Amino acid sequence: MDIFEKCAGFTAAEEARQAGLYPYFHQIATKQHSEVIMDGHRTIMLGSNNYLGLTSDERVIEAAREGLRKFGAGCSGSRFLNGTLTLHVQLEEELADFFGKEDVVTFSTGFQANLGIISALCGMHDLIFMDRRDHASIFDAARLSFARQVKYDHNDMDDLKSKLAAADPRKGKLIVVDGVFSMEGDLADLPAIVKLAKQYGARVMVDDSHGVGTMGEHGRGVAEYFGLEKEVDVLMGTFSKSFASLGGFMATTHQVAEYVRHVSRPFIFSASMPPGNVAAALEALHILKAEPERVKRVNDNAAYMRRGFESLGIRAGESMAPIIPIVIGTNEATFKVTRDLLEAGVYVNPVVSPAVEEGGSLLRTSYMATHTRDQLDFALEAFGRVLG
Ligand code: PMP
Repeated sequence: MDIFEKCAGFTAAEEARQAGLYPYFHQIATKQHSEVIMDGHRTIMLGSNNYLGLTSDERVIEAAREGLRKFGAGCSGSRFLNGTLTLHVQLEEELADFFGKEDVVTFSTGFQANLGIISALCGMHDLIFMDRRDHASIFDAARLSFARQVKYDHNDMDDLKSKLAAADPRKGKLIVVDGVFSMEGDLADLPAIVKLAKQYGARVMVDDSHGVGTMGEHGRGVAEYFGLEKEVDVLMGTFSKSFASLGGFMATTHQVAEYVRHVSRPFIFSASMPPGNVAAALEALHILKAEPERVKRVNDNAAYMRRGFESLGIRAGESMAPIIPIVIGTNEATFKVTRDLLEAGVYVNPVVSPAVEEGGSLLRTSYMATHTRDQLDFALEAFGRVLG
């Protein structure tokens, strides 16, 4: 059998294009910002993870430019060998200080951070407990580790407890959970998870890709929000959202970081973050520390939209972070609404099955500290017309 046969038989995307419902790969001709030019039209961006609005901040752009000027366009190698710049180490030290952890390791993307952390820490005799709605990179990381995967129902602490209780007490256990769930913006029940981890001798890893920069008074994420920073053994995050760049990181103890640096294959056998990205992430961190009001602003904007949806009679899902889901139902209806909103000048992310349960397809809307009230009002008016 030809391995390419499945490609010839893959017609779903073309069929959606023919029906005028294809929602992916729209082209943006401007900076990623609260308002962009998409497919040639002015569009309010409600589908970006640029929560603090820093990708177009002149200070971040200038820092990236300076990083490029000083260190060049790329590192041409892995952190392990020739690819460690003084800039990587500075970013790691400043992040460790920000999160109050002993050490930080940076990776080339957030996806790779999960692959690299989990596959280094867990092996075939260990158990990984995962929320069914954890990010795809966590499931792929668990596969890469050869550990046994134990999935528990979304935020169902009774289910997690019974699975921990049923597990062999001699086995190593890691609970890995999204701090903010990426599609629906709800939070992990960290207080309960931490308690169960203590009771059953498990370690806790939080992927707070969406929580860093948006949750907690200083933007240190859901652990700060719950007052549980010391109880999280491994904090994982990304630079592709609040930090306006590309790359990922783990914040943990010196011992764990030292181990991961020396055994993690996705870390060792891949080129390090390029200088422009490191410099951009570092400047974004400086801005987050100097301007914590951005954290409040992005959440105020989300709260404004929640009230706006309510007054339009649009039922938005319950969420705590600046991600608001609106359940539409079928995949087709979701694609139609996405298209109609885009025609009205508003971009949202369609999230359809199998990414969510059948019949539970939704619009994922997300907000930035830099959205103006005019932009949000424009978006609400479009929602009112399309969904009203
Ligand atoms: N974890 C979560 C929860 C995410 O939402 C994402 C990105 N969508 C990632 C990890 C991967 O991060 P990156 O885009 O930096 O690879």
